[in-house]
Amino acid sequence: SLRGKSALVTGSTSGIGLAIAEALAAAGANVMMNGFGDVERARATVRAAGAVHGARVEHHGANLANVDEVEAMHRAASEALGGVDVLVNNAGIQHVAKVEDFPPERWDAVLAVNLTAAYHTTRLVLPGMRARDWGRIVNVASVHGLVASAEKSAYVASKHGLVGLTKVVALETARTNVTCNAICPGWVQTPLVEAQVQARAEREGRDPSAAREALVGEKQPSGAFVSPSSLAELALFLCSDAAREVRGVAWNVDGGWVAQ
Ligand code: NAD
Repeated sequence: SLRGKSALVTGSTSGIGLAIAEALAAAGANVMMNGFGDVERARATVRAAGAVHGARVEHHGANLANVDEVEAMHRAASEALGGVDVLVNNAGIQHVAKVEDFPPERWDAVLAVNLTAAYHTTRLVLPGMRARDWGRIVNVASVHGLVASAEKSAYVASKHGLVGLTKVVALETARTNVTCNAICPGWVQTPLVEAQVQARAEREGRDPSAAREALVGEKQPSGAFVSPSSLAELALFLCSDAAREVRGVAWNVDGGWVAQ
C-alpha cells in the first residue's frame, strides 16, 4: 500500500499518466497531477480512484518545457502533500519528420519535455527522498529508448537519454531505499498515438481503423495495443517494497517489439 505516501505524476491528465495516477491513488497515495486539457475531468477520475483512502488529489499546470514552472510545481507538491515520495516522469510529446526536415524548435520542445524536465524533477525530489530514505522514480520512456524508428529523431534521442538518466540515478541512489527505473511501452492507444493514426490514414487514404492496425502490426508482433492500465500495474510494482532491488532497469512492455 502507498497510504501516506505522496506522488507527483507529470502529464497525468491523459493516457498512460492518467492511468498511473489512478493506480497510485487507488493504492492510497496522495497525488499531484500535471498536464493540460480537461483537467477537472481527469482529476475527478483520480479522486474517485483514491476515494476509499481519502487520497488528496491536486493538479499543477506547469509547462514542463519551462524550468521555472517545473520548480513551482515541485514547490506546490511539497507544500500541498508534504514532499514527493513517488515521482513518475511520464509527460512526453512526439514529432514525426526526417532529420533534415525536422523543425529546430520542435527538436528543442521534444528534448525539453521528454528528457530535460525529468532531469529537473529528479534533481528537485532527490534530496527529500534521501532525507526520508525512501523514494521511487519511474520514468515512462518507450521502446524508442531501446531501439529506433525512422523520422523520430528527437523522440528516440530523448527516450534513449531518459533510459541513460534512469541508469545514472539508479547508480547514485544504489545504497539507499530510493530506486529509479524506466518503463518502455510499445504502441499504447492514447491521444499521442491517435494523432499518428490520423496522419497515416490521411496520407494513405485509409480509414482510421485500417491505419491503426497497419501502424501496430508493422512493429509489434502481438498486433495488439498495450493497455495503459497494464503499464500502471507495472509502475505500482516498481513502487512496491518487493521491487527494492530492481534498479536501473528499462522494462519493455511492447508485444514483442524489441525481441525481434
Ligand atoms: P498523451 O498525449 O495521452 O498524454 C501526454 C500527457 O502529457 C498529457 O497529460 C499532456 O497534457 C501532458 N503534456 C504534454 N506536454 C506537456 C508539457 N509541456 N508540460 C506538461 N504536461 C505536458 O500521451 P501518452 O501516450 O499517454 O504518453 C505518455 C508517455 O508515454 C509519454 O512520455 C510517451 O512518450 C510515452 N509513450 C507512449 C506510447 C504510446 O504508444 N502512446 C508508447 C511509448 C511511450
